[in-house]
Amino acid sequence: MTRAHNFNAGPAALPTEVLEEAEKELVNFNGTGMSVMELSHRSKEYENVHNDAISLLKELLQVPDNYEILLLQGGASLQFSMLPANYLKNNETANYVLTGSWSEKALKEAGNFGQTRIGATTKEDHYKRIPSFDEIDKKSTDSYVHITSNNTIYGTQWQQLNHDWHVQAFADMSSDILSRPIPVERFSAIYAGAQKNLGPSGVTVVIMKKELLEQERKEGTPTLLRYSTHAEKNSLYHTPPTFAIYMLNKVLHWIKRHGGAEGMQERNEEKAGLLYEVIDNSNGFYKGHAEPESRSRMNVTFNLRSEELNQLFLQQAKQNGFVGLNGHRSVGGCRASIYNAVTLDSCAALREFMIEFQQQNQ
Ligand SMILES: *Cc1c(COP(=O)(O)O)cnc(C)c1O
Repeated sequence: MTRAHNFNAGPAALPTEVLEEAEKELVNFNGTGMSVMELSHRSKEYENVHNDAISLLKELLQVPDNYEILLLQGGASLQFSMLPANYLKNNETANYVLTGSWSEKALKEAGNFGQTRIGATTKEDHYKRIPSFDEIDKKSTDSYVHITSNNTIYGTQWQQLNHDWHVQAFADMSSDILSRPIPVERFSAIYAGAQKNLGPSGVTVVIMKKELLEQERKEGTPTLLRYSTHAEKNSLYHTPPTFAIYMLNKVLHWIKRHGGAEGMQERNEEKAGLLYEVIDNSNGFYKGHAEPESRSRMNVTFNLRSEELNQLFLQQAKQNGFVGLNGHRSVGGCRASIYNAVTLDSCAALREFMIEFQQQNQ
């Protein structure tokens, strides 16, 4: 049985090796006579998996000791409201940098808790680019600045994160976490749903400066929506998504075996390079959505010269075993999501298909 060339945007491809390991252990995990799904979340066997996942995240992302790593539920979408619920006080203003639909959603949620303003937006450029650091309107009175490191739908990515943000910075890294090294110390909070680069859906990774835990707004925040609740109990305050965390742990081991964050960066640049090269050498047959200096190494977005040709491309791609190439319903066109687990082979096969399709439909 062959594996599909899976370019799904999320949930997305998982490493075959990881799935095979999980298959072997499915009915009898570690000699327990039970699946990991059937273990108590208070058992030693599960706790080892849980703690190993947290320590691998710390190691692979080089998270400093003054940060807490939390494994939560509710997806990145819950973080859109959980962060302002705890950290945007009534008399304060949060600064959102808009680079796509996910940042718009984050901004909207923050508006439920306090004042917001838009420090920069590239909406009028159809989100084809990331604003330069200088374009961001910075005020020392901002409560925090929020960015989206990779824009899954538009296919743009902050090339540089190592900025001296003027106030504490929060980042949604859902679609590029652990795809490259990141300067964690530049951010007060980083969050990401696991289902793109780290594992299956159901678990959300939050990396947060410990000092923030003492600054939460306590009145009115439900217990489960306070970060301190989870930090105090090592993300075991209530039943965690144990199977998703088990898979996360396996994917983290796989990332470690493949060179960690640096290894992923190298692999991802090579994969993205294969596809962008076809686009750039196609004499405009394929038109990339993102401006070259803002291109994402995770989501390659492009259009053909007409909607009919887009449809023909997608239809023939599907017949040839390529899955998930439709652009997001809000922007259309084509998108190849090439997260960590998507293989170089899949990208090379797509490249060949794109070249042949151009030859036949020039
Ligand atoms: C997928 C995605 C989200 C939404 O994640 P959920 O886990 O579905 O809530 C948020 N932000 C970005 C950048 C994403 O790619």
